[in-house]
Amino acid sequence: MLFQDIIIKKREGLPLTAEEIHFFVTGYVKGEIPDYQASALLMAIFLKGLSGEELGNLTNEMIDSGIRVDFSAVSGIKVDKHSTGGVGDKISIPLAPLVAACGVKVPMVSGRGLGHTGGTLDKLESIPGFNVGLSIEAFIEMVDRIGLSMIGQTKELAPADKLIYALRDATGTVPSIPLISSSIMSKKLAEGIDALVLDVKVGTGAFMPTEEKAETLARTLVDIGKRAGKQVTAFLTRMDDPLGEAVGNSSEIIESIEILKGRGPEDIKELTFTLAKEMLLLARVASTGEEAIQMLDTAIADGSALAKFREMIVEQGGNPEVTNDYSLLPSFAHVLPVVAPRAGYVQAINSTEIGMAGVLIGAGRAVVSDTVDHGVGIKILAKSGDYVKQGQPLVEIQYNDHRAVGEAASRIASAYVIGDAAPLTIPLIRKVIR
Ligand code: URA
Repeated sequence: MLFQDIIIKKREGLPLTAEEIHFFVTGYVKGEIPDYQASALLMAIFLKGLSGEELGNLTNEMIDSGIRVDFSAVSGIKVDKHSTGGVGDKISIPLAPLVAACGVKVPMVSGRGLGHTGGTLDKLESIPGFNVGLSIEAFIEMVDRIGLSMIGQTKELAPADKLIYALRDATGTVPSIPLISSSIMSKKLAEGIDALVLDVKVGTGAFMPTEEKAETLARTLVDIGKRAGKQVTAFLTRMDDPLGEAVGNSSEIIESIEILKGRGPEDIKELTFTLAKEMLLLARVASTGEEAIQMLDTAIADGSALAKFREMIVEQGGNPEVTNDYSLLPSFAHVLPVVAPRAGYVQAINSTEIGMAGVLIGAGRAVVSDTVDHGVGIKILAKSGDYVKQGQPLVEIQYNDHRAVGEAASRIASAYVIGDAAPLTIPLIRKVIR
């Protein structure tokens, strides 16, 4: 088989056979196909797309480049959640212990922040001592014993995805629906789960800015899961304003703990409960939505969700006292408010710009090798629909290093659109695809 023939075939929009896709993935992982040829195929896929069958084959090849985690010895239906990435999106952190406290097994493999989006692993690493690098054996054992574990992608899980993602990042081929969906689903299916809840973001802070594209992505993800015999539900959710009031790492851990204590911002609570309810239904620990909500309310009210979070922290080497004493978390030394240039309604916030301002002050990373300052962040004081007076703070930049704070402030100022009319309210949960 000649690799250039495979590139030409896809360039002409023809479907690739299972053997051709196998040749690509195995050859690239072994280093037998050079980057320039693999890049040409990725661009052809970006432009011409993949059929459902090709997508299934590509996803399976990416899974088979590593191991499939074997949870067969662990009783119960294993359910995970995945978000396509947003700003202030800490939902996994309160969600996993809340759902586990209701009796669901939650094996969660999360990612790091890149570009404007934050990452669950970076947030968890704000907790002193917390180890996201457990072995697969320790991960399985922990899920079996306490019902959840939150770790990072290990080298055994879909290694082809890691290599191909890096190439996509460098060749302008990230925002392709077949490439995004095979990337996400290869990691999730390799995890050995039975069911998955997806939070597909749409809006200014999302990969997919329009509802039409986000819905196509959601349907593609659900379809891959269905072909693999898994139950998958995708929610299309609004990602225009940052979620909650905290954008950062430590600050998002605090907001997550507040949710587990029955407090915290309404949007975080609504999204956490919506996704958690679906996880309880998929795991069949609740038979109706009302029953699921009752169980979730009880787990918050009786402290069992918070206790589960503390148990996970202890198991993964962290200090559980952070839930009682937020001063144990990394913090910031300085504060700079960004104020409203005029009076009026906040009509829109460009979350990508807020996320990039976070990267500038060190809360996120522009490239994979950047280090993160867990203490810094952006506190959102005004959201869409709020009326602000001239000079009123819109956000508070919480920082340690002076160097980039000016640029961060001007990006935040440009992210806010303030006008005379109140904006239309768009629901947080826009669509459900089962
Ligand atoms: N998240 C992933 O895991 N892969 C992508 O391609 C995009 C988002």
